[in-house]
Formats: sequence, structure tokens, C-alpha cells
Amino acid sequence: MADIKKLTNEVGAPVADNEHSITAGPRGPVVMQDVWLMEKMAHFNREVIPERRMHAKGWGAYGKLKVTQDVSRLTKAKVLQPGAETELFLRFSTVAGERGAADCERDIRGVAVKFYTQEGNWDLVGNNTPTFFIRDVHNFSDLNRAVKRDPKTGRRSAQNNWDFWTLLPECHHQITITMSERGIPASFRNMNFYGEHTFSLYNQQNERVWCKFHFKTKQGIRCLTNEEAAAITAVDREYHGKDLYEAIERGEYPQWGMYLQIMTEEQARKHYENPFDITKVWPHKEFPLIEVGVLELNRNPENYFAEVEQSAFTPAHVVPGIGFSPDRFLQGRLFAYGDAQRYRLGVNHNHIPVNQAKVPVQEYHRDGAMRVDGNYGGTPAYSPNSAGYWTAQAEVAEPPMPLEGAMWRYDPKDDPTDDCFRAGGNLWRVMDERQRALLIHNTAADMAPVTRNVQYRHAVHCYLADPAYGTRLAEALGLRMATVEALARLDHQGLIQATLSGTME
Ligand code: NDP
Repeated sequence: MADIKKLTNEVGAPVADNEHSITAGPRGPVVMQDVWLMEKMAHFNREVIPERRMHAKGWGAYGKLKVTQDVSRLTKAKVLQPGAETELFLRFSTVAGERGAADCERDIRGVAVKFYTQEGNWDLVGNNTPTFFIRDVHNFSDLNRAVKRDPKTGRRSAQNNWDFWTLLPECHHQITITMSERGIPASFRNMNFYGEHTFSLYNQQNERVWCKFHFKTKQGIRCLTNEEAAAITAVDREYHGKDLYEAIERGEYPQWGMYLQIMTEEQARKHYENPFDITKVWPHKEFPLIEVGVLELNRNPENYFAEVEQSAFTPAHVVPGIGFSPDRFLQGRLFAYGDAQRYRLGVNHNHIPVNQAKVPVQEYHRDGAMRVDGNYGGTPAYSPNSAGYWTAQAEVAEPPMPLEGAMWRYDPKDDPTDDCFRAGGNLWRVMDERQRALLIHNTAADMAPVTRNVQYRHAVHCYLADPAYGTRLAEALGLRMATVEALARLDHQGLIQATLSGTME
């Protein structure tokens, strides 16, 4: 084996000098002939790859999922069979901040898990919240632009953020969680995470159920107040990354219990609201958590760029026994995530070791930038072919998915069962007084720079979720209660019209 400490150039030839440029005379200019110097500068210029548009700031670790229970009646996925142990890589992230952003911002946390299963990679790409702001992928880029930088000032803008959020009432549930104490976790180890979307599971008999994935921390929920987070951020922007890394180095491996919520196709048809709407949750009392096993993180990456930055996830990566659902937001992400990785890392990003499956990959893609394996040699590049290469495996086909209705641009708000405020209200009602006070305090602080009309819009949404929630927020913001109550009697369009003016008192 080569001595790793000896310097060579980019193609393995020894480098004689790595500190002194070749100059024309002892005080003369550098010459083009210093090709190693040119190579160093040129490579350095290209070391930064495009950052993720969202979830740019992240930390990752390896671990395993151990299945301790028997859920084989629900799914044939080998990764979820009793006793199965599967290696995984997990990346935590914030959403809005860029790659250099501080860890302790008020934001939701992305949690993307890549399970290296015997049947190929399964990526579960969720968050530390069981729900999301929006439910139609049409709003996806707009949400992200609203929480990112203002085009004129180049600064993050509370006004843009809250203006957008309050114009889409379905955001209310996720806003409530984000402004609650859980909006700034004490560490990644101290938060739950969720697959968020409704997925499907199907068993050996190809019987389908709808499913939501939950991961509950075994370290206990712990959160930071705004004041604690500000004090930490002043001295340490990498606080959560450091905590995770050091805990794993100490041998304190964080664990989460994995659970499923299951809804039958029949229950879904009768459910009182759209079970595929990501802005809602399925109540625990009606759909109790079913234990699956334990997810543990136990190994730090050797190299941040190679493993964390280059890790790539897409919810499109599922394995037999796990499938999608009609969730229209999930359907959009099935395209958007893989496409983001093709742009960011290139079309062959699944060949990067952290993304590589542990089983043979025979997808018969050819060529493309940075194709570094044998490119399938001389095997046929087309299918079908008489040599029998690249035969589809019909035995893993999932059962047909029943759908209903004509193709159309449906607005979920036209669905009489749609209630954008029930879930946020339910959360308010499960909170104790300490949690409620924090929610009001955090919301009022976040909305302080925002114009009155937008403050009214949100207070009305809170009032519709629970009168006490709206009343407490109105008091904290100094809004007139009579105006909140009058606005709460309007329909959605009426409320928007009445709250368009930034000069509203
Ligand atoms: P339950 O009383 O059965 O469950 C309440 C849930 O709320 C628990 O999972 C609890 O998590 C969680 N919770 C408590 N405080 C917060 C917070 N500040 N932010 C986010 N989650 C919190 O009630 P329901 O199932 O009827 O749901 C009521 C509301 O609870 C929902 O509208 C939703 O906002 C929230 N919730 C529901 C979940 C679900 O899948 N049903 C999942 C997570 C939240 P823990 O037990 O870990 O403390």
C-alpha cells in the first residue's frame, strides 16, 4: 500500500515542492510552467458544489434499525421483518438557512434516513414534525422563497414569511408546531421525527394499508427557549452538529423507537377528512402507534464532504412492501428530490459511496458525467434484448391503487370536510399552560416586525383553531379583539380581502 503521507499530483506522480512557486529569477514572476500550482488553484476554485436549495445546513451519522416486533401482517418489506437489522445513514438539517446558518434557529428540522436494505435502498425523507406547511407541490418553491432571502434586501424577511403563511390557511397547524417550544430542539437527539406523508404498505398477499412512520426519541424531548438559543448562537453556530458528533464519540448512541400508524383502505374512504392531506395528522386515539423496533445512530462519518454533503435522498426510493399514496405533496416530491440531486451532484450521484446500495445495482443506465465504474461493459444497452439482460421482476409489482374522480385542479378548501384549523386547535388543547405561554410568547416575538394586517390574519386563524389561542395571541400582539372576532366570521376570501392593507390598525 502506498505511503498516504507522500504527496503526489492528481495522477500519482511525485510532487517535489508544495510551498515555493517556480519564478523567473529569485524576485521574478511566477511562470505557467508551475503546473502543480495551477492544478491546486483550479481545483480549489471548484471545491464548492451547489448547496441544497433547502436543508442546506446538515449533520449526519451512520447507524442501524433493529426490528423487535412482528409487523409482517402489514408489509413484506424485508427491512421491517421481525429480527431484521439494517444499516443506515441519517442526515439532520435545518430548512431555511444556508450552509453556514446557525443550528439553533427556530425552524423545522429535516431528518432523512437511507436504509441500506437487502432489497435496495429505502429513503425516508421527513422532518421533526408530523405535518407540513403546504399540501400542494405547486406551493413548494413559493414557500421556500418566502422563508429564504428577500429579492431586494438580500435579508430574511419575517414579513414575507408570515404574509405567505397566513394566505394559505393550511399552514396554520405547522406554524403552531414551529412556534411552539419544539421549534428549537435542545439537540437532534432530543426530538421526534416523522415520515410525515401517508405511505402505503403491502404484505405477501398484496393487501394494502395506508401508513405513517413515527420515530420517538428515547432521550426525551428537550427544547431551547428563544433566549437560550440566542445565547448559544452567539458563541456556537454548530451546536447541534457538535452535540451529535460528541455523543456518538462518547459511545452514547442516540435511539428512537420506530412506530407505524395504520389506516385500512376502508377506513380511509370513511375518514372524516382527507387522510392523504399532509397538513393533517391521524389522531393517536383512532390510529394508535404500532411499535416496530429501534433506530440507533452509532458511527460518525470519516469525512464531512464525502459522506454528509454528498449524501442524497429521495422519497422515490422505496422497496417492495412499501409504496406511495395519493398524497399530492408526496407525488411532487417524488420528482423534485431526485432532480435536485441530479443538478447538485450529477446524474451518477447514486454511485457516490454514501449513496450506493449494498446490493448489486442493475438499473442499466449508461454514461453521464462522472461515470466511474465499468459502465456495464459490453452488455446490451437496450431492453428487451435477445440475450435476456435487464429483465423486469414482475413478482414485486405492487397492487393497483384505487383512485376516484375526474382529472381536475381541485382546491382542497372546496372540500366540505376540509378544516385547516382543527389540528392546530387540537395541539393547543393538548398543551399545558407552560407550553401555551411559550407558544404565544414565541409567536408574538416572531411576528413583532410584521405589519398589522398579517398579524390579524394569523390571530383570526388561531381564534378559529381555539378561541383561547386567538384571544391570547391578540392580547400579546395588542390587537383589538372585536376586530379579530368580526374577521373570524368572514370566509377565507373575505378574510384575505379585509386584511390586504398593510396600514390596517
Ligand atoms: P394525543 O394527545 O394523542 O398526542 C399529542 C401529541 O402531541 C403527542 O404525540 C405529543 O408528542 C405531541 N406534542 C406535544 N407537544 C407538542 C408540540 N409542541 N409540538 C408538536 N407535537 C407536540 O393527540 P392527537 O393524536 O389527537 O393529536 C393532537 C395534536 O397533537 C395534533 O393535532 C398534532 O398537532 C399533535 N401531534 C399529533 C401526532 C399524531 O400523529 N397524532 C403526532 C405529533 C403531534 P410526545 O408524546 O412525543 O410528547
